[in-house]
Amino acid sequence: MAECPEVAVDINRLRHGQVFHYLASAAEPEPRLGMRVLVPFGSKTVQGWVVGYSAPPEGIALRSILSVVGQEPDFNPELLSLARWMAGYYLHPLSEMLKLIAPPPKPLLSRKRAPSEGMSTAGNHGRLLLSDEQATALKEIDVALRAGAGGEFLLHGITGSGKTEVYLRSAMTALALGRQALYLVPEIALTPQAGAWFRSALGDQVAIWHSRLARGEKYEIWEGIRQGRLGVLIGPRSAVFAPFKNLGLIIIDEEQDSSYKQQESPYYHAGQVAAQRALYNRAVLLMGSATPSLESYTVARSGQYRLLRLTRRPRGRQLPRVTIVDLKTERRAQFSLLSQSLSGKIAQRLQHQEQVILLLNRRGYSPIVFCPLCGHVLKCERCSVSLVYHRNTGDLRCHYCNFRRSLPSSCPGCGADRSLRFLGTGIQRVEHSLKRLYPEARIQRLDFDTTRRKGDFDRILTSFGGRQIDILLGTQMVAKGHDFPGVTLVGVLNADLALGLPDYRSTERTYQLLAQVAGRAGRGRAPGEVVVQTYWPDHYSIRAACFGSYVSFYQEEIKNRALAGYPPFGELIRVRVSGAKEQQVIDRSTELAEDLAGLLTGQEAQLLGPAPAPVLRLKDQFRWQLMIKGKSGVLKDKISDVIQRFQKNTSVIISIEVDPYGF
Ligand code: ADP
Ligand code: ZN
Repeated sequence: MAECPEVAVDINRLRHGQVFHYLASAAEPEPRLGMRVLVPFGSKTVQGWVVGYSAPPEGIALRSILSVVGQEPDFNPELLSLARWMAGYYLHPLSEMLKLIAPPPKPLLSRKRAPSEGMSTAGNHGRLLLSDEQATALKEIDVALRAGAGGEFLLHGITGSGKTEVYLRSAMTALALGRQALYLVPEIALTPQAGAWFRSALGDQVAIWHSRLARGEKYEIWEGIRQGRLGVLIGPRSAVFAPFKNLGLIIIDEEQDSSYKQQESPYYHAGQVAAQRALYNRAVLLMGSATPSLESYTVARSGQYRLLRLTRRPRGRQLPRVTIVDLKTERRAQFSLLSQSLSGKIAQRLQHQEQVILLLNRRGYSPIVFCPLCGHVLKCERCSVSLVYHRNTGDLRCHYCNFRRSLPSSCPGCGADRSLRFLGTGIQRVEHSLKRLYPEARIQRLDFDTTRRKGDFDRILTSFGGRQIDILLGTQMVAKGHDFPGVTLVGVLNADLALGLPDYRSTERTYQLLAQVAGRAGRGRAPGEVVVQTYWPDHYSIRAACFGSYVSFYQEEIKNRALAGYPPFGELIRVRVSGAKEQQVIDRSTELAEDLAGLLTGQEAQLLGPAPAPVLRLKDQFRWQLMIKGKSGVLKDKISDVIQRFQKNTSVIISIEVDPYGF
């Protein structure tokens, strides 16, 4: 039989790459590749996309496409093949991946391009005299760009070593060669400077992409990229799907950042997607970080990525001096988390009108509210986690599902009046102590709760940059990418918060967070200082972060990964079973585990679980999980088949996450 259109129909429960053949409609012109169509499916009409043409299998009666939507394809061949790769790699229905990549809808009214907000064009970026290390790195990238055959680079540069300048110059070269550049950042709001630097050097061929843009603006940018009018796109992970006409360079700043991983379905990692696009386009992939992920550094050491190093800060600026404070021996710190030595240093810096950043990665006032008389702990009604007290609003909140209730005046367990006590210290509690300790200081908290509205984040950072704030106290939000020359002291109130989490990346996360926040100090003329408070002063991740040695951290941590068979030594696939009835969830996960175990016998992969997820109940859903560890890549299709068959006959929900994050 002749070739017919293959349609990825928009039905969620399909096997990951599954497509259906249809006949072209007699009434319509033959749909072109990548076009959206309406097709009959069962008794319904559903949308789908033409993703190829092939001869259908013998002996089935084909139905016809009902209509073709729009005049132009939604996807070019590159994006179609990207979607197919993603469906296969992440074991997810093709139509879901296509919807992720699909262009923003065309607005009904065409409007002028809005001027970009808040972009200063000051600065001499792109014209600085490069340091030797910057020049050496750039030369290699330049050669690869000019050769036009792609290439993968890992730029390992300490904080403040001038990586942005290397990104900028590489983008300038790509543009000069008539190619486009994509510059991925962990979160657009965290890099207010990057856009301005690029704009000041390259003008309005630079577009900034983020989720808060109006629809019309999104459409305009996508069109500009597609037609080649725009040369550089800066954005967070979703920018990786832009329909470039001639992509020559992809930069991934802070490549280790977990925000590149979409942590909800459809799961994907923008770095992996970017690598696919770079290959297809023969584009140069430039990943940069002060604290590369273990995965990337391992690849770089093997020589598969070219490793480029920046080991010094320009203009002779020094890395800050670090002091470790052992919280076990600091009695005062146990309540307010402000050790004597740290509070003394804060006072000193305030006196000199210098600025301070304090980090405590824990929202709210107190993470546990309990009754000392009966031991009752206040928990979320829908999740198996304790409620966090928020002082400013006077209520208790679930940080997983946002459930709220007011603080009861008597204990719900034993009824005792006013018996509830706060255990542990959150960032609001520290804020409270700081205000008492330094009544003159201008103190600002930067966390999820103070940045709920659009523009909050930028406003806080701008006033900190303008020196209208003396102490910026924040969660991990204060750690990333900022360049504030007035900051001479950084204090980490409790370095250990992440260390105990049941996640094989928790040590790496701790290291990265500390190294990043320490890098905020001493970027100006005055030298910087960092105080790290910990109950675990000898832990290798804390020592390595404090004394600036990535390699020593890497060598220690990679041994642990090897021992446990975790990435980069083995792949991980997480299968999660969830449902409203716990027993049903347990039974189904046990059955699914048996089916999967059968598949894995004799393979270099092993099945772990079933076990309850670390947060067992979330929004009234019980969750159990299985983990497939080892060489699972070659078995993916079979794993997906088993799960697909299983899912058909059960009411529990099964989700698959390849290379999972967060446990
Ligand atoms: P990183 O991204 O590596 O942490 P940045 O790119 O933010 O570092 O650079 C840190 C500071 O150094 C910035 O203020 C930047 O303007 C400055 N800088 C970068 N390169 C040079 C250079 N060649 N000469 C002088 N200053 C530089
Ligand atoms: Zn909850």
